[in-house]
Amino acid sequence: MAEFGSQQILKPGLYVVATPIGNLGDISARAKHVLGQVDAIACEDTRVTAKLLTANLIKKPLLAYHEHNGAVQRPKLLAMLAEGKKVALVSDAGTPLISDPGFKLVAEAQDDGHYVTAIPGPCAAIMALSLAGLPTDRFLFLGFPPNKSKARQTWFHVERQIPASLVYYESAKRLPESLRDAAEVLGDREAAVCRELTKRFEEVVRGDLIALAAHYAEAGAPKGEIVVVIGPPSKTAPADSQQIDAETMLTAALKHMSVKSAAAFVAELTDIPKKQLYSRALELTGKG
Ligand code: SAM
Repeated sequence: MAEFGSQQILKPGLYVVATPIGNLGDISARAKHVLGQVDAIACEDTRVTAKLLTANLIKKPLLAYHEHNGAVQRPKLLAMLAEGKKVALVSDAGTPLISDPGFKLVAEAQDDGHYVTAIPGPCAAIMALSLAGLPTDRFLFLGFPPNKSKARQTWFHVERQIPASLVYYESAKRLPESLRDAAEVLGDREAAVCRELTKRFEEVVRGDLIALAAHYAEAGAPKGEIVVVIGPPSKTAPADSQQIDAETMLTAALKHMSVKSAAAFVAELTDIPKKQLYSRALELTGKG
């Protein structure tokens, strides 16, 4: 293992620096050292990064670098590298380039022959994998799903046979509908909703997708930041039939919902009329 020398002088180049995803204590000693030594820091939102720097008693020139100004800012950053400057790239939170800007800058800096390195650190997707209790030997990071239900179902459908855990970022307000679509397409695969990681209200809710969809349909959208992890498809299930029958869905939903809500929930996931599901739900709960 290489030793970390806090007196080490940085060589010119681009430093891709991971920053905390919620808990300021997660910034590494190397990240602080590098941010304190560079000539300038490219960041998504200068106000967000200014707060991080203030908390660490660092003062540096900041340059906004995000998806809307990358084409204009990149040549300026590459020119600084060509002048022998040291430049850091950070995002608002976590590891740059992971659902965040930066890959074109890294590629062009490398193409121009500059030294490029990364200071690794927090990443919400990786922390979620550490906590989900699902297989991690193979996983596929999917970024954010589409906002519209039909497109989201297609998006899940494309991935349904991949023999790996799936990891995706989701906005809290869309979580209930996103889990409903995931349950409809992927059936009862095991999953975990990882929320507010490293923060005060950190929470991991585990269960199969149908149970999780039923839970959030009933409880409503939570607050905060979310990563969803879905376990791999079962090896015994036929390749194209991950979907499960309405009876199983109804039974799972009834563990979390009233008879009426469970019937409405499963009707949304299937083509079966709500009335028919309602009668069956009454029978299943011994009320019919
Ligand atoms: N580059 C970041 C990383 O390394 O995790 C991710 C940036 S992406 C634009 C932001 C999304 O990451 C959020 O909408 C949320 O889905 C997820 N995320 C970030 N911080 C999180 C946290 N503390 N807890 C749960 N999810 C988080």
